[in-house]
Amino acid sequence: MKTWLHALLFLSLAGGAAGQQQQPRTGPAPTPRYDLLLRGGHLIDPRNGINVVRDLAIRTGKVAEVAERIDPAQAFKTIDVSGLYVTPGLVDIHVHVFAGTGERRSYAGDNSVYPDGFTFRAGVTTVADAGCAGWRNFDDFKRLVIDRSRTRVLAFLNIVGHGMRGSRYEQDIDDMQPEPAAEMALRHKGLIVGIKTAHYMGRDFTAVDRAVAAGTKAGIPVMVDFGRAYPEKSLAELLTVKLRPGDIYTHVYSGLRGELDPTGHANPALRIGRERGVIFDVGHGAGSFTWRVAVPIIQEGFWPDSISTDLHAADINTSVKDMLSVMNKFLALGMPLDRLIQCSTWNPAREIRQEQIGHLSVGAPADVAVLRLEQGEFGFMDVYGARLRGKKRLRCEMTLRKGKVVYELNGLSRPDWVTLPRNYRATGSPRWDGNRLSSGALGRQPLGDLRPAAVDPAGRASPSRRGP
Ligand SMILES: [Zn+2]
Repeated sequence: MKTWLHALLFLSLAGGAAGQQQQPRTGPAPTPRYDLLLRGGHLIDPRNGINVVRDLAIRTGKVAEVAERIDPAQAFKTIDVSGLYVTPGLVDIHVHVFAGTGERRSYAGDNSVYPDGFTFRAGVTTVADAGCAGWRNFDDFKRLVIDRSRTRVLAFLNIVGHGMRGSRYEQDIDDMQPEPAAEMALRHKGLIVGIKTAHYMGRDFTAVDRAVAAGTKAGIPVMVDFGRAYPEKSLAELLTVKLRPGDIYTHVYSGLRGELDPTGHANPALRIGRERGVIFDVGHGAGSFTWRVAVPIIQEGFWPDSISTDLHAADINTSVKDMLSVMNKFLALGMPLDRLIQCSTWNPAREIRQEQIGHLSVGAPADVAVLRLEQGEFGFMDVYGARLRGKKRLRCEMTLRKGKVVYELNGLSRPDWVTLPRNYRATGSPRWDGNRLSSGALGRQPLGDLRPAAVDPAGRASPSRRGP
């Protein structure tokens, strides 16, 4: 009862954002069924064929109801997201996040970035690390990053036992052992979602063959960064013979391995590979996306199956930036919005066989992105710094992870400070607010002086009356 009174007092003080403020109730009121209601947004959920305005209610971290209209009285908190797109939390299946070891010039070290600083602000709630760790150092990766991140971090295990610690390791065929790699993958089912081979420069298929052997043994797909192609190690053989249906070819628009043939057309092997069931992933990165390759291939109708960043320290401030920035390039190339969302949510989730995510079905984890489609004059760079102009871009307004707000750009969920008590503290609630300070989750915090702050006629509060 005390908790409910506290919540009611709280709601009457903080209210819902953007006109959703609830009136204090008189008499006994039923306890709201939902923790959070996103109201009036345009829902795009490709897995469920939804592309229309819908309300979305969340309870205990899961999607609880999707309907044309859900009564705000049913929710502890309502956020007005009208005019915005509501999508499943974005799924980026090619990132490098094995940071924290202190190893220089290594993706199991300084080349990687911690996920949480780069995911939520771009609407991303799930990433898959693309092979930074192999079976020898996966436990360190799990302990240092995976277990400490709020982002859902999954992994492709490198076929090289030492992972991506530099060329000395990555060219060492003796350390590409399918048995221990498959064993490690089976020990972490649902966390290790694939096997990765990358950066192998040999003129043979050893790295690919061993990755496929490990993937077959563990029952998971392989993701291939093909290193370099040669006449005796061709893209055509990789895509039409070596890879299995469901295996993933990343860096599809790099042009570094013959994706665009010398006549300026898409390599026919791409289409044959797709017909066989091979998956094509963007894997933008610092060196694998150029307009002069992507545009002609896409003009022939060869779009990617999944969009991914290949996020790492060398591209976060150059051409990649973040997941939405890469998605915006495909928007600029004419990909319809619903397909763009599909290639960034449901498709990648299916590719890594994590079908519990990437959609907003009732019962699914409430990982949600709220996106604003902006119109204007924008520019999008490829890895060589060439620009393509565009007139639309998506920005992330808000991200929910397990039903809680973990990022918001403009404080859509927040009360204006001049409406709050003079000594206000936490304005949210742990029910829906993922920020420990603003939700009050750091401990019971005094609400302070309940009188409103002094407000001058222009609507600004007097600085002298601000809280401590
Ligand atoms: Zn990569």
